[in-house]
Amino acid sequence: MNVMLLGAPGAGKGTQAAKIIEAYGLPHISTGDILRKAVADQTALGLEAKRYMDAGELVPDEVVIGLVKERLSQPDTDKGFILDGFPRTVVQADALGGVLTELGKELTAVVSIDVDMQALIERLTARRTCKSCKGIFNVIAQPEIANGVCPACDGELFQRDDDTVETVTNRLHVYERSTAPLIDYYEDKGVLRHVDGNRDVEDVWTSVDAILQG
Ligand code: AMP
Repeated sequence: MNVMLLGAPGAGKGTQAAKIIEAYGLPHISTGDILRKAVADQTALGLEAKRYMDAGELVPDEVVIGLVKERLSQPDTDKGFILDGFPRTVVQADALGGVLTELGKELTAVVSIDVDMQALIERLTARRTCKSCKGIFNVIAQPEIANGVCPACDGELFQRDDDTVETVTNRLHVYERSTAPLIDYYEDKGVLRHVDGNRDVEDVWTSVDAILQG
């Protein structure tokens, strides 16, 4: 099963990807995670990517396309994969189409998680991530995590550098301009399925899983 999760920053792609991994054991290809690791490791790629990420801008297409191409060529993706945060532009979507054709793969489902704009801003600025288990939490929904301790594993919670109010606003503008057109792009290809992401995680998951079950 080859799944793509589409949606604005904060729509819940990472949270639903974690659910898919738990249920189906598919490898998770998150360009955001790959880039954040490169930044943490201070590789040349990470140093270049950091300035775009800190500003809430997209990293250049050729950089992320190269990363995804390499990742999709690894054998663990033969049983399927979850694409999360890629593609984010029509250029990336076209490149992905070419790579998948070359590898003899195709997308099983493109799931668009739809969330209202105001809710996105609230979710992103309230988001906290665990350094240890990578769990994603929300300090408004779960005020007890304001102490910085992960409720799942007691690890240390942190706020992503790009989840500040200024960067979030820009990321949402960039989404509207560059990524939202992909909804029509995949709708035209007849593979797009919409899920109402304005609901509880478990309700959203019920809808996502129903789509994956076919
Ligand atoms: P994410 O974790 O998916 O929200 O990504 C965090 C940041 O990484 C984005 O704001 C971009 O700066 C960069 N990024 C992640 N995926 C892509 C992509 N497909 N194209 C360009 N930049 C990306």
